[in-house]
Amino acid sequence: MKIGRVLTKNGKIVFCAQKDDGRICEFDPEKKAVGTEIDIERLLAPVMPTKIVAVGLNYRDHAKEFNLKIPEEPLLFLKPQTSVIGPNEDIVYPKGVAQLDYEAELGIVISKKCRSVSPEKVSDYILGYTCFNDVTARDLQAKDGQWTRAKSFDTFAPIGPWIVTDIENPGSLKITSSLNGQIKQSSNTSNMIFDVFTIVSFVSQIMTLEAHDVIATGTPPGVGPMQPGDTITISIEKIGELTNKVVRR
Ligand code: MG
Repeated sequence: MKIGRVLTKNGKIVFCAQKDDGRICEFDPEKKAVGTEIDIERLLAPVMPTKIVAVGLNYRDHAKEFNLKIPEEPLLFLKPQTSVIGPNEDIVYPKGVAQLDYEAELGIVISKKCRSVSPEKVSDYILGYTCFNDVTARDLQAKDGQWTRAKSFDTFAPIGPWIVTDIENPGSLKITSSLNGQIKQSSNTSNMIFDVFTIVSFVSQIMTLEAHDVIATGTPPGVGPMQPGDTITISIEKIGELTNKVVRR
């Protein structure tokens, strides 16, 4: 099933499900009940997380690219809720930033509040998977040491378009990014150093995860800069395509 969030023609924001025939219907994520068909104005980010927990270096091929040591534990950082945008919304190139990079990532969406979950039980708390772009001000990341400023500008967390619930093996999905239609990153989630179950379990030992929180699982090799006017697409096998444009405001 594909779960999303939309602005309806009459100005309401509601959860929805896309049926196999393409029709978009109201959806209650708690009761998992599909309602009547709705007229949509546009798709929004599929969830509004209380927090986004992101993993730093998590692809073997990416570590190799930069000659970095394979980490022994997941390296975590946070992105705020205010950085979230949906499909086709604009990524704003901030004033004073010299290099704005895309990072294609598999996003995990949490289904219900949880804490200290073992890797074996993690699947009970995953609503599904989505595309995520961990937009990064690379120059500020190097300058600050701490990553908060580099990762947290408004519009730096495009998510969507859909949460796909029936992914049997999240550890075997092709993942790419394309800048203006040209492929820049191409890998497979099988190259992850820590798999999704290990990551969610690890994060849940540190902090309570709330329903609809998002965990971004790291990016493969080939990250690079975007310029105003560019279009960036994150594509993940069986999950979908997330496209956003870069603008100056
Ligand atoms: Mg990243």
